[in-house]
Amino acid sequence: MLLGILSDPHANLPALEAVLADVEGVRPDVLICLGDFVGYGAQPNEVVEALRDRCAVALVGNHDLAALGSVDISDFNRHAAMAALWTRDQLTHRTRSFLEGLEPRGVIEGLELDHASPRDPVWEYVLDTSIADANFSARDFEVALVGHTHVPAVFWRKENRTMGFAPNSEEGIDLPDGRLILNPGAIGQPRDEDPRASWATWDPRDRRFTVRRIEYPIALAQRAIRAAGLPGALADRLAQGW
Ligand code: ZN
Repeated sequence: MLLGILSDPHANLPALEAVLADVEGVRPDVLICLGDFVGYGAQPNEVVEALRDRCAVALVGNHDLAALGSVDISDFNRHAAMAALWTRDQLTHRTRSFLEGLEPRGVIEGLELDHASPRDPVWEYVLDTSIADANFSARDFEVALVGHTHVPAVFWRKENRTMGFAPNSEEGIDLPDGRLILNPGAIGQPRDEDPRASWATWDPRDRRFTVRRIEYPIALAQRAIRAAGLPGALADRLAQGW
């Protein structure tokens, strides 16, 4: 079974459309979405509409919860908070009820799914090996798929050793035996200085994790952000991949 892993589309419809066109070519057996459908970008309802019937499992992310008004956004930076409040006003009843029905943690075929991390599925960023290590210790899972950082990553643990690396080979990586935390990166707002949209596939049979980077018309997403009156910095950062 080839699993397609989507995360953090963040209301960026041009990026999502480019990724979905690539998904059509790759034809994973199952698609999952690890959350943050909305926030930052200007097309929240369109993005939810494009994904709602495609994903076998969909999670809610911290930005979705912020747009629903169900988490405190005082920890958000100013631009993220402005985008959350803007999004709150844009959500249709249909989008809102879809997001309200989601959880930040899920499971599929024995895989753990978390928006953020296994020990804190809403907020924690698994950005380095010490945080990954703490997560391997805190919860009992073999393979966990996470999003939230917007940076593709592999964390691998065998016996008492945890290693982490950036999976930038589009050939895919065959991972040896051991426990894993895998992150596909972000569709709608990559933060590894590569502005291309990111998604990934995982094949549990040969333990192959493949990150795919997709060019998309960034100017279209930027124009939509500016036209919506959202902070211009949210448009600028898309071109920088940060
Ligand atoms: Zn996010």
